[in-house]
Amino acid sequence: MVRQHHTKIVATLGPSSSSRKTIEGLFRAGVDVFRLNFSHGSQDDHRERYEIIRELEKSLDRPTGVLADLQGPKLRVGTFREQMVELEPGQAFRLDLEDSPGDESRVSLPHKEIFDALHKGSQLLLDDGRIRLKVSKCGPDFAETQVVTGGSLSDRKGVNVPGVVLPVTPITPKDRADLRFAIALGVDWVALSFVQRPDDLAEAQRLVAGRAAIMAKLEKPAALERLDEIVERCDGIMVARGDLGVEMPPEDVPVVQKRILRACRKIGRPVIVATQMLESMVHAPTPTRAEASDVATAVYDGADAVMLSAETASGDYPVEAAAIMDRIIGRVEQDPLYWKIMDAERVEPEATAADAISAAARQVAHTLSARGIVTYTTSGSTTMRIARERPDVPVMGLTPKLATARRLAVVWGVRSIHTADARNFPDMERKASAAALAHGFADAGERIVITAGVPFGTPGTTNILRIARVQKA
Ligand code: PGA
Ligand code: MN
Repeated sequence: MVRQHHTKIVATLGPSSSSRKTIEGLFRAGVDVFRLNFSHGSQDDHRERYEIIRELEKSLDRPTGVLADLQGPKLRVGTFREQMVELEPGQAFRLDLEDSPGDESRVSLPHKEIFDALHKGSQLLLDDGRIRLKVSKCGPDFAETQVVTGGSLSDRKGVNVPGVVLPVTPITPKDRADLRFAIALGVDWVALSFVQRPDDLAEAQRLVAGRAAIMAKLEKPAALERLDEIVERCDGIMVARGDLGVEMPPEDVPVVQKRILRACRKIGRPVIVATQMLESMVHAPTPTRAEASDVATAVYDGADAVMLSAETASGDYPVEAAAIMDRIIGRVEQDPLYWKIMDAERVEPEATAADAISAAARQVAHTLSARGIVTYTTSGSTTMRIARERPDVPVMGLTPKLATARRLAVVWGVRSIHTADARNFPDMERKASAAALAHGFADAGERIVITAGVPFGTPGTTNILRIARVQKA
């Protein structure tokens, strides 16, 4: 079970993809990372899916990433006496802190911090932006609004307040409980929703304490004002276009996507492009041309991974969606233009031994037409530095730490292998050869490039680059 392509696939599990058969289908279709979405489903649902992933990971022998995505401070209205109301453009509609059921004239909005941040003229978007309200008058516990765009509004629909930095805690009590659960389960990545400032990462970092890597979901315009600092502070980034596209006009989303990808590429931070990539496949067996183009664009932009949400979680064609995504990725990666772009966008190595070796490894592999680069890594950081170089050959990450092998599953181009550290030079070449053969990218006698640290077995010491020929098994 080897991956052919460089750009990775993240698939969200849900009611459409909870059986062992479907999860195995997703694995085989090319999924590298599974996302457990804590906005939906119970902890028991997530545990069952997690256990199936780990069994398959073992039987298919491929270190696989699991990403626990925390719901975060998603703001919601309360409930209605009749579950749903119809709002007409121009009518008045009141939001307040009373917890009685709503009707055509008002509904509860149980978030005091919103009222504190509103002023006359503020806009509120409800139900993924389908309904728009404009504030005409407000106080500390209410807002009178006028309906700008109407529609039906039902219980507990989401609320967005575009352009306002809300003083909300980035981790709610539910998130804290889910986080504890996910860490105990053994997930590799934790994603934080609605990150607005670098400090929003602090509490999660303290709670996680290195037991998982932390991904910041960029879905608030405020986050873009401090983009570089947020990218610096976390371990990975998700371009969460669902909420982002509600909080800003649709024409801004592609521009922002490119900006985020460049910021991540610059410092070598793994980045996922997410949401609505193959949306029509929720109900159709094939994507639209525009969707195929959207996936391709993210790949050409140098994303580490592209993500499926409803397509695999609740859609009618989960495995087909992953298979199509894999085909689009493969097609782009066959295009010489793709490699020209990767080459042109390459960024200067930093003044560290790991970067100097990584840049050299890419150059040597390219000059000699070597079949791959094999990296020895403990934390995964050297392997990520080589991926940042976007070499045009496969990158293998050999690591004694299973957690590292799994975390690297989201990183562009990396095939990770869980194996003991090299003991000496002959052992280093032997293990590298075995990995190259097992992953089918080199035959005996072909050249590979190896990076490692001497003395062997000491983390953080990448300091050698070796050109070797693959030995017979
Ligand atoms: P969500 O995040 O699916 O948890 O809302 C992704 C997004 O907003 O795009
Ligand atoms: Mn979101």
